[in-house]
Amino acid sequence: PRVLANRYEIVKKLGKGNFGTAYLCKDLRQKNCTDGSDLKVLKEISIGELQPDETVEAAKEARVLSKLMHPSIVKFHDSFIDGDVFCIITEYCEGGDLDMKINDLKKNKKLFDEKTVLDWFVQLVLAVHYMHTRRVLHRDLKTRNIFLKKNMIKIGDFGISRILMGTTDLASTFTGTPYYMSPEVLKHEGYNSKSDIWSIGCILYEMCTLSHAFDGTSLMGVMYKIVEGELPKLPDRFSKDLNRIMVLMLSKDPAKRPSGTDLLKEPLIANHIAKMS
Ligand code: ADP
Ligand code: MG
Repeated sequence: PRVLANRYEIVKKLGKGNFGTAYLCKDLRQKNCTDGSDLKVLKEISIGELQPDETVEAAKEARVLSKLMHPSIVKFHDSFIDGDVFCIITEYCEGGDLDMKINDLKKNKKLFDEKTVLDWFVQLVLAVHYMHTRRVLHRDLKTRNIFLKKNMIKIGDFGISRILMGTTDLASTFTGTPYYMSPEVLKHEGYNSKSDIWSIGCILYEMCTLSHAFDGTSLMGVMYKIVEGELPKLPDRFSKDLNRIMVLMLSKDPAKRPSGTDLLKEPLIANHIAKMS
């Protein structure tokens, strides 16, 4: 089997993303491990297009990410260059991603209950707040970057899109999936912490309804709805308060959206956190 950095043995391919390929791997330094914590994810990104100074910046950013420690953030373990690929080693989440989970439920004509939605939403808010107070933005929040481990959610790929795009702030021209992109990002007005808030508003809607907050039959249709379209509304089975919070998060004007700190002051969220601990 293939071993990278003399340490990580590839077990299998997990999938291909916008920037590279993700593999499940085994950390050979954790010998005699029986709880599965030696299983990690190796993300391999071709650096052919990165300039040398950008590679240095990417390594710096990786160091910042490796210092983040939060129960709802996928742990960033290591990064290194192996030949012409930049590799990132992170925690493995055996529950798969939220996108897979949503598709599963849809297929079985089921829905998440409000308690699960609220648990996961609060975990998202706590994780994003933690990052934002450390001045790290996610920049690519989407259901495929949210993972499940022991029925708790963990945000993955935090700050990674910045690493992958080098130092020049290409984040605003990033062409990934458009569903979670905020109006200001689509209008090339720049990415800021409120753009992450918009994305978790979209994810909240999706957890409640299993449908995208802004959807359409074409890319242009989706983008038009994000920038000009009316606000989505949660089904009546969800509390008015949750709907109000979601609507605030989906304000077209980023200045009108609540920050992570504002969200934690919302009684619905604060009370839920008090109940969890
Ligand atoms: P993208 O985010 O564009 O889907 P990624 O490279 O991040 O691309 O992920 C590719 C695949 O690997 C996805 O199916 C994802 O669910 C899986 N994956 C990525 N990171 C993890 C992780 N930490 N734990 C479990 N699965 C992961
Ligand atoms: Mg990802």
